[in-house]
Amino acid sequence: MRITKNCRSCNKPFSISGSEQEWFKGKGLEPFTHCKQCRAKEKKICRSCKEAFFISESEKKWLAGRGLKPFANCQKCRKERRDGAGAGP
Ligand SMILES: [Zn+2]
Ligand SMILES: [Zn+2]
Repeated sequence: MRITKNCRSCNKPFSISGSEQEWFKGKGLEPFTHCKQCRAKEKKICRSCKEAFFISESEKKWLAGRGLKPFANCQKCRKERRDGAGAGP
C-alpha cells in the first residue's frame, strides 16, 4: 500500500510505494524522510562556515555544462564573497 509523508526539508507531501517500503524493510532501513526532489540534491559542507548546503540537480547540470566544479561554499558565503569583492576602499 502506498503511504504519503511530508518532506522534512520542503514540507511537500510525497508518497512511498508498497514495493519501496518492502525494499526498505528488507534492508532494515527507515523509509525516505525527504521527497524525490530534495533527495536529488547533493549535500555539501561549506568550506567557509562549515554549514551544510545543497546543490540541486539543475545547478549540477548548469555547472557541468560550463565545465565548472560544484560549489565548495554555501550560497550565503558565495554572496558575501561577491558583495565583498570590489566593495572595499
Ligand atoms: Zn522536499
Ligand atoms: Zn558558508
